[in-house]
Amino acid sequence: MTTIATSPEIKTTDLSQAQNNGSDGAAKKMKALVYHGPGKKSWEDKPRPVILEPTDALVKILKTTICGTDLHIMKGDVPEVTPGRIIGHEGVGIVEEAGSAVSNFKKGDHVLISCITSCGKCEYCKKGMYSHCEKGGWVLGHLIDGTQAEYVRIPFADTSLYHIPEGSDEEALVMLSDILPTGFECGVLNGKVQPGSTVAIVGSGPIGLAALLTAQFYSPAQIIMIDPDDNRLQTAKQFGATEIINNGTENAVEKVQQLTNNKGVDTVIEAVGIPATFELCQSLVGAGGTIANVGVHGKSAELHLEKLWAHNITITTRLVDTVTTPMLLKTIQSKKLDSKQLITHHFALGDIISAYDTFQNAAREKALKVILTN
Ligand code: ZN
Ligand code: ZN
Repeated sequence: MTTIATSPEIKTTDLSQAQNNGSDGAAKKMKALVYHGPGKKSWEDKPRPVILEPTDALVKILKTTICGTDLHIMKGDVPEVTPGRIIGHEGVGIVEEAGSAVSNFKKGDHVLISCITSCGKCEYCKKGMYSHCEKGGWVLGHLIDGTQAEYVRIPFADTSLYHIPEGSDEEALVMLSDILPTGFECGVLNGKVQPGSTVAIVGSGPIGLAALLTAQFYSPAQIIMIDPDDNRLQTAKQFGATEIINNGTENAVEKVQQLTNNKGVDTVIEAVGIPATFELCQSLVGAGGTIANVGVHGKSAELHLEKLWAHNITITTRLVDTVTTPMLLKTIQSKKLDSKQLITHHFALGDIISAYDTFQNAAREKALKVILTN
Protein backbone atom coordinates (compact mmCIF):
# COMPACT_ATOMS: atom_id res chain seq x y z
CA MET A 1 0.00 0.00 0.00
CA THR A 2 2.51 2.59 1.07
CA THR A 3 5.60 2.60 -1.02
CA ILE A 4 8.81 4.52 -0.95
CA ALA A 5 8.31 6.58 -4.04
CA THR A 6 10.98 8.09 -6.20
CA SER A 7 8.60 10.38 -7.99
CA PRO A 8 10.30 13.45 -9.45
CA GLU A 9 7.36 15.79 -8.78
CA ILE A 10 8.04 15.93 -5.03
CA LYS A 11 9.41 19.33 -4.10
CA THR A 12 11.27 19.61 -0.84
CA THR A 13 10.41 23.27 -0.26
CA ASP A 14 7.32 22.23 1.69
CA LEU A 15 8.15 21.49 5.34
CA SER A 16 5.92 18.45 5.61
CA GLN A 17 7.36 16.95 2.48
CA ALA A 18 10.90 17.82 3.42
CA GLN A 19 10.48 16.03 6.74
CA ASN A 20 8.86 13.19 4.93
CA ASN A 21 11.94 12.41 2.92
CA GLY A 22 13.50 9.06 3.50
CA SER A 23 17.22 8.42 3.28
CA ASP A 24 16.85 8.03 -0.48
CA GLY A 25 15.49 11.57 -0.67
CA ALA A 26 11.97 10.57 -1.74
CA ALA A 27 8.75 11.22 0.18
CA LYS A 28 6.62 8.36 1.38
CA LYS A 29 3.28 8.34 -0.33
CA MET A 30 -0.19 7.17 0.52
CA LYS A 31 -3.66 7.13 -1.02
CA ALA A 32 -6.30 9.56 0.21
CA LEU A 33 -9.70 10.98 -0.66
CA VAL A 34 -9.16 14.58 -1.68
CA TYR A 35 -11.80 17.31 -1.98
CA HIS A 36 -11.30 19.43 -5.10
CA GLY A 37 -14.16 21.90 -4.76
CA PRO A 38 -17.96 21.39 -4.87
CA GLY A 39 -18.90 18.07 -6.45
CA LYS A 40 -15.27 17.08 -7.10
CA LYS A 41 -13.29 14.46 -5.26
CA SER A 42 -10.66 11.87 -6.12
CA TRP A 43 -8.82 8.94 -4.57
CA GLU A 44 -5.25 9.88 -5.27
CA ASP A 45 -1.60 9.82 -4.18
CA LYS A 46 -0.67 12.28 -1.43
CA PRO A 47 2.49 12.62 0.65
CA ARG A 48 2.21 10.57 3.82
CA PRO A 49 1.73 12.92 6.80
CA VAL A 50 4.57 13.34 9.27
CA ILE A 51 4.91 14.47 12.88
CA LEU A 52 4.90 18.29 12.88
CA GLU A 53 4.59 18.94 16.64
CA PRO A 54 5.96 16.84 19.52
CA THR A 55 2.35 16.30 20.68
CA ASP A 56 1.31 14.71 17.34
CA ALA A 57 0.87 11.06 16.51
CA LEU A 58 0.88 9.50 13.07
CA VAL A 59 -1.88 6.89 12.83
CA LYS A 60 -2.27 4.21 10.17
CA ILE A 61 -6.00 3.95 9.45
CA LEU A 62 -7.55 0.49 9.84
CA LYS A 63 -11.21 1.44 9.44
CA THR A 64 -12.99 4.67 8.65
CA THR A 65 -16.44 5.81 7.52
CA ILE A 66 -18.30 8.58 5.71
CA CYS A 67 -20.39 11.11 7.62
CA GLY A 68 -23.37 13.21 6.55
CA THR A 69 -21.09 16.17 7.23
CA ASP A 70 -18.73 14.92 4.50
CA LEU A 71 -21.64 15.10 2.04
CA HIS A 72 -22.23 18.72 3.10
CA ILE A 73 -18.53 19.40 2.46
CA MET A 74 -18.77 17.75 -0.97
CA LYS A 75 -21.69 20.02 -1.85
CA GLY A 76 -19.62 23.06 -0.93
CA ASP A 77 -21.70 23.86 2.20
CA VAL A 78 -18.60 24.10 4.41
CA PRO A 79 -16.48 26.81 2.74
CA GLU A 80 -13.64 26.55 5.29
CA VAL A 81 -12.79 23.23 3.65
CA THR A 82 -10.50 24.25 0.82
CA PRO A 83 -9.69 22.32 -2.36
CA GLY A 84 -6.85 19.85 -1.79
CA ARG A 85 -8.07 18.87 1.68
CA ILE A 86 -8.21 15.18 2.68
CA ILE A 87 -11.58 14.79 4.38
CA GLY A 88 -12.97 12.40 7.02
CA HIS A 89 -13.06 12.73 10.81
CA GLU A 90 -13.88 9.23 12.06
CA GLY A 91 -11.88 6.02 12.34
CA VAL A 92 -9.75 3.53 14.20
CA GLY A 93 -6.12 2.77 13.53
CA ILE A 94 -2.67 1.83 14.79
CA VAL A 95 -0.13 4.36 16.02
CA GLU A 96 2.68 4.35 13.48
CA GLU A 97 4.76 6.98 15.25
CA ALA A 98 4.27 9.08 18.37
CA GLY A 99 5.81 12.54 18.83
CA SER A 100 8.39 13.06 21.59
CA ALA A 101 5.87 14.73 23.95
CA VAL A 102 3.20 12.02 23.56
CA SER A 103 3.24 9.97 26.77
CA ASN A 104 0.01 7.95 26.61
CA PHE A 105 0.47 6.24 23.22
CA LYS A 106 3.29 4.40 21.49
CA LYS A 107 3.91 2.75 18.13
CA GLY A 108 1.65 -0.26 17.67
CA ASP A 109 -1.18 0.90 19.96
CA HIS A 110 -4.69 0.43 18.58
CA VAL A 111 -6.57 3.70 18.89
CA LEU A 112 -9.97 5.26 18.39
CA ILE A 113 -9.77 8.67 16.72
CA SER A 114 -12.13 11.29 18.13
CA CYS A 115 -13.73 13.64 15.60
CA ILE A 116 -12.91 16.43 18.07
CA THR A 117 -9.28 17.36 18.74
CA SER A 118 -8.61 18.71 22.22
CA CYS A 119 -5.46 20.23 23.69
CA GLY A 120 -6.67 19.45 27.23
CA LYS A 121 -5.19 22.70 28.52
CA CYS A 122 -7.22 25.67 27.27
CA GLU A 123 -10.15 27.29 29.08
CA TYR A 124 -12.75 25.38 27.01
CA CYS A 125 -11.01 22.01 27.40
CA LYS A 126 -10.83 22.59 31.17
CA LYS A 127 -14.61 23.03 31.12
CA GLY A 128 -15.07 19.81 29.14
CA MET A 129 -16.12 21.80 26.08
CA TYR A 130 -13.58 20.21 23.75
CA SER A 131 -15.60 21.20 20.69
CA HIS A 132 -14.45 24.77 21.26
CA CYS A 133 -10.82 23.96 22.09
CA GLU A 134 -8.74 27.01 21.22
CA LYS A 135 -6.21 24.84 19.38
CA GLY A 136 -8.48 22.05 18.21
CA GLY A 137 -12.21 21.36 18.09
CA TRP A 138 -13.48 19.97 14.82
CA VAL A 139 -10.35 20.32 12.70
CA LEU A 140 -9.90 16.82 11.21
CA GLY A 141 -11.03 16.64 7.61
CA HIS A 142 -12.07 20.28 7.97
CA LEU A 143 -9.12 22.59 8.67
CA ILE A 144 -6.42 19.90 8.55
CA ASP A 145 -6.20 16.63 6.60
CA GLY A 146 -8.51 13.90 7.84
CA THR A 147 -9.06 10.18 8.12
CA GLN A 148 -10.25 9.07 4.67
CA ALA A 149 -6.68 8.13 3.89
CA GLU A 150 -4.14 5.43 4.63
CA TYR A 151 -2.48 7.62 7.30
CA VAL A 152 -3.51 10.64 9.34
CA ARG A 153 -1.66 13.06 11.61
CA ILE A 154 -3.47 13.51 14.92
CA PRO A 155 -2.57 16.67 16.89
CA PHE A 156 -2.68 16.52 20.71
CA ALA A 157 -2.66 12.74 20.53
CA ASP A 158 -2.70 12.25 24.31
CA THR A 159 -6.08 13.98 24.62
CA SER A 160 -7.60 13.24 21.20
CA LEU A 161 -7.08 9.47 20.89
CA TYR A 162 -8.48 6.64 23.01
CA HIS A 163 -6.94 3.23 23.64
CA ILE A 164 -8.90 0.35 22.16
CA PRO A 165 -9.04 -2.54 24.62
CA GLU A 166 -7.64 -5.80 23.26
CA GLY A 167 -10.23 -8.08 21.67
CA SER A 168 -12.63 -5.22 20.87
CA ASP A 169 -14.75 -5.18 17.76
CA GLU A 170 -13.05 -2.24 16.05
CA GLU A 171 -15.84 -1.72 13.52
CA ALA A 172 -18.31 -1.13 16.30
CA LEU A 173 -15.95 1.47 17.77
CA VAL A 174 -15.85 3.56 14.58
CA MET A 175 -19.38 4.61 15.60
CA LEU A 176 -17.77 6.22 18.66
CA SER A 177 -15.66 8.71 16.70
CA ASP A 178 -18.67 10.92 16.07
CA ILE A 179 -22.24 9.65 15.76
CA LEU A 180 -22.77 8.00 19.15
CA PRO A 181 -21.36 10.86 21.25
CA THR A 182 -23.19 13.34 18.97
CA GLY A 183 -26.57 11.61 19.36
CA PHE A 184 -26.00 11.17 23.08
CA GLU A 185 -24.52 14.54 24.06
CA CYS A 186 -26.39 16.88 21.70
CA GLY A 187 -29.66 14.90 21.71
CA VAL A 188 -30.13 12.79 24.84
CA LEU A 189 -28.14 14.72 27.46
CA ASN A 190 -29.07 18.20 26.22
CA GLY A 191 -32.66 16.99 25.77
CA LYS A 192 -32.76 15.82 29.42
CA VAL A 193 -34.32 12.43 28.65
CA GLN A 194 -35.63 10.96 31.92
CA PRO A 195 -37.06 7.63 33.11
CA GLY A 196 -40.74 7.54 32.12
CA SER A 197 -40.49 10.65 29.93
CA THR A 198 -41.72 11.04 26.36
CA VAL A 199 -39.30 11.59 23.48
CA ALA A 200 -39.76 12.35 19.79
CA ILE A 201 -36.81 12.14 17.41
CA VAL A 202 -37.20 13.92 14.09
CA GLY A 203 -34.91 12.19 11.58
CA SER A 204 -34.13 8.48 11.55
CA GLY A 205 -30.73 8.63 9.88
CA PRO A 206 -27.54 7.45 11.62
CA ILE A 207 -27.52 10.37 14.08
CA GLY A 208 -31.22 10.06 14.94
CA LEU A 209 -30.73 6.32 15.42
CA ALA A 210 -27.68 6.96 17.61
CA ALA A 211 -29.88 9.20 19.76
CA LEU A 212 -32.56 6.49 19.81
CA LEU A 213 -30.05 3.85 21.00
CA THR A 214 -28.52 6.02 23.72
CA ALA A 215 -31.85 7.51 24.90
CA GLN A 216 -32.72 4.02 26.10
CA PHE A 217 -30.02 4.26 28.83
CA TYR A 218 -32.65 6.36 30.65
CA SER A 219 -35.75 4.18 30.06
CA PRO A 220 -38.10 6.82 28.66
CA ALA A 221 -41.73 5.65 28.41
CA GLN A 222 -42.10 6.55 24.74
CA ILE A 223 -39.68 7.16 21.90
CA ILE A 224 -41.48 8.28 18.74
CA MET A 225 -39.37 8.28 15.55
CA ILE A 226 -40.40 10.56 12.70
CA ASP A 227 -38.98 10.27 9.17
CA PRO A 228 -40.30 10.12 5.59
CA ASP A 229 -38.36 6.88 4.81
CA ASP A 230 -40.22 3.67 5.75
CA ASN A 231 -37.08 1.56 5.70
CA ARG A 232 -35.38 3.82 8.23
CA LEU A 233 -38.52 3.78 10.39
CA GLN A 234 -38.54 -0.03 10.38
CA THR A 235 -34.90 0.05 11.48
CA ALA A 236 -35.89 2.45 14.25
CA LYS A 237 -38.57 0.03 15.37
CA GLN A 238 -35.95 -2.75 15.60
CA PHE A 239 -33.67 -0.39 17.55
CA GLY A 240 -36.32 0.24 20.19
CA ALA A 241 -38.66 3.01 18.98
CA THR A 242 -42.06 2.61 20.63
CA GLU A 243 -43.89 4.36 17.77
CA ILE A 244 -42.96 5.40 14.24
CA ILE A 245 -44.50 8.15 12.11
CA ASN A 246 -43.92 8.64 8.39
CA ASN A 247 -44.22 12.42 8.07
CA GLY A 248 -44.29 12.09 4.29
CA THR A 249 -47.69 10.40 4.44
CA GLU A 250 -48.99 11.16 7.95
CA ASN A 251 -49.57 14.35 9.94
CA ALA A 252 -46.81 14.08 12.54
CA VAL A 253 -48.21 16.83 14.78
CA GLU A 254 -51.68 15.23 15.02
CA LYS A 255 -50.24 11.77 15.55
CA VAL A 256 -47.89 12.90 18.34
CA GLN A 257 -50.77 14.74 20.02
CA GLN A 258 -52.83 11.51 19.92
CA LEU A 259 -49.95 9.47 21.30
CA THR A 260 -49.36 11.88 24.21
CA ASN A 261 -52.94 12.70 25.31
CA ASN A 262 -52.61 16.10 23.62
CA LYS A 263 -49.67 17.04 25.83
CA GLY A 264 -46.78 16.95 23.34
CA VAL A 265 -43.47 15.36 24.31
CA ASP A 266 -40.96 16.15 27.04
CA THR A 267 -38.00 15.96 24.67
CA VAL A 268 -37.84 16.58 20.92
CA ILE A 269 -34.54 15.81 19.23
CA GLU A 270 -33.95 17.50 15.86
CA ALA A 271 -31.64 15.21 13.85
CA VAL A 272 -32.01 16.53 10.30
CA GLY A 273 -30.86 20.16 10.02
CA ILE A 274 -33.41 21.90 7.78
CA PRO A 275 -35.90 24.68 8.67
CA ALA A 276 -38.98 22.44 8.21
CA THR A 277 -37.83 19.86 10.75
CA PHE A 278 -36.79 22.46 13.32
CA GLU A 279 -40.22 24.08 12.94
CA LEU A 280 -41.89 20.67 13.30
CA CYS A 281 -40.07 20.20 16.62
CA GLN A 282 -41.68 23.40 17.90
CA SER A 283 -45.13 21.90 17.27
CA LEU A 284 -44.27 18.65 19.07
CA VAL A 285 -42.72 19.92 22.30
CA GLY A 286 -44.97 19.86 25.36
CA ALA A 287 -45.16 22.49 28.12
CA GLY A 288 -41.92 22.47 30.09
CA GLY A 289 -40.21 20.38 27.42
CA THR A 290 -36.90 20.66 25.63
CA ILE A 291 -36.00 20.92 21.95
CA ALA A 292 -32.48 19.55 21.54
CA ASN A 293 -31.05 20.48 18.18
CA VAL A 294 -28.49 18.08 16.71
CA GLY A 295 -28.85 18.86 12.99
CA VAL A 296 -26.28 20.93 11.10
CA HIS A 297 -28.25 23.91 9.80
CA GLY A 298 -27.26 25.86 6.72
CA LYS A 299 -30.27 28.21 6.73
CA SER A 300 -32.18 30.20 9.34
CA ALA A 301 -35.37 28.64 10.67
CA GLU A 302 -38.43 30.40 12.06
CA LEU A 303 -38.85 30.47 15.84
CA HIS A 304 -42.53 30.56 16.79
CA LEU A 305 -42.27 32.67 19.92
CA GLU A 306 -45.91 33.73 19.43
CA LYS A 307 -46.76 30.17 20.53
CA LEU A 308 -43.80 29.22 22.67
CA TRP A 309 -43.23 32.34 24.79
CA ALA A 310 -45.47 31.02 27.61
CA HIS A 311 -44.68 27.34 27.12
CA ASN A 312 -41.73 27.04 29.57
CA ILE A 313 -39.61 25.31 26.99
CA THR A 314 -35.84 25.09 26.53
CA ILE A 315 -34.01 25.02 23.21
CA THR A 316 -30.46 23.68 23.21
CA THR A 317 -27.71 23.60 20.60
CA ARG A 318 -24.32 21.91 20.80
CA LEU A 319 -21.35 20.76 18.79
CA VAL A 320 -20.36 17.35 20.13
CA ASP A 321 -17.63 17.60 22.78
CA THR A 322 -16.90 13.84 22.85
CA VAL A 323 -16.60 14.05 26.65
CA THR A 324 -18.78 10.93 26.91
CA THR A 325 -16.61 8.80 24.63
CA PRO A 326 -14.92 6.86 27.48
CA MET A 327 -18.31 6.12 29.05
CA LEU A 328 -19.85 5.06 25.72
CA LEU A 329 -16.81 2.84 25.05
CA LYS A 330 -17.59 0.95 28.27
CA THR A 331 -21.22 0.48 27.28
CA ILE A 332 -20.13 -1.05 23.97
CA GLN A 333 -17.52 -3.25 25.71
CA SER A 334 -20.14 -4.53 28.14
CA LYS A 335 -22.67 -5.05 25.31
CA LYS A 336 -25.18 -2.65 26.84
CA LEU A 337 -25.01 -0.79 23.54
CA ASP A 338 -24.80 -2.52 20.16
CA SER A 339 -23.36 0.12 17.87
CA LYS A 340 -22.68 -2.38 15.09
CA GLN A 341 -26.36 -2.30 14.18
CA LEU A 342 -25.71 1.07 12.56
CA ILE A 343 -23.35 -0.46 9.96
CA THR A 344 -25.06 -1.58 6.74
CA HIS A 345 -22.31 -1.63 4.11
CA HIS A 346 -18.62 -2.56 3.83
CA PHE A 347 -16.04 -1.45 1.28
CA ALA A 348 -12.28 -1.57 0.86
CA LEU A 349 -10.79 1.87 1.51
CA GLY A 350 -9.65 1.95 -2.13
CA ASP A 351 -13.33 1.67 -3.20
CA ILE A 352 -14.26 4.85 -1.34
CA ILE A 353 -15.73 6.49 -4.44
CA SER A 354 -18.32 3.65 -4.67
CA ALA A 355 -18.89 3.95 -0.93
CA TYR A 356 -19.71 7.65 -1.39
CA ASP A 357 -22.15 6.74 -4.14
CA THR A 358 -23.92 4.27 -1.84
CA PHE A 359 -23.98 6.67 1.13
CA GLN A 360 -25.23 9.55 -1.05
CA ASN A 361 -28.14 7.38 -2.19
CA ALA A 362 -28.92 6.16 1.31
CA ALA A 363 -32.68 5.68 0.76
CA ARG A 364 -32.22 3.71 -2.45
CA GLU A 365 -29.35 1.64 -1.02
CA LYS A 366 -30.94 1.27 2.45
CA ALA A 367 -27.66 2.59 3.82
CA LEU A 368 -26.89 3.79 7.33
CA LYS A 369 -23.15 3.76 8.07
CA VAL A 370 -20.57 2.34 5.66
CA ILE A 371 -17.28 0.89 6.90
CA LEU A 372 -14.13 1.31 4.82
CA THR A 373 -11.29 -1.08 5.63
CA ASN A 374 -7.67 -0.26 4.82
ZN1 ZN B 1 -19.24 13.04 11.38
ZN1 ZN C 1 -8.15 23.00 24.31
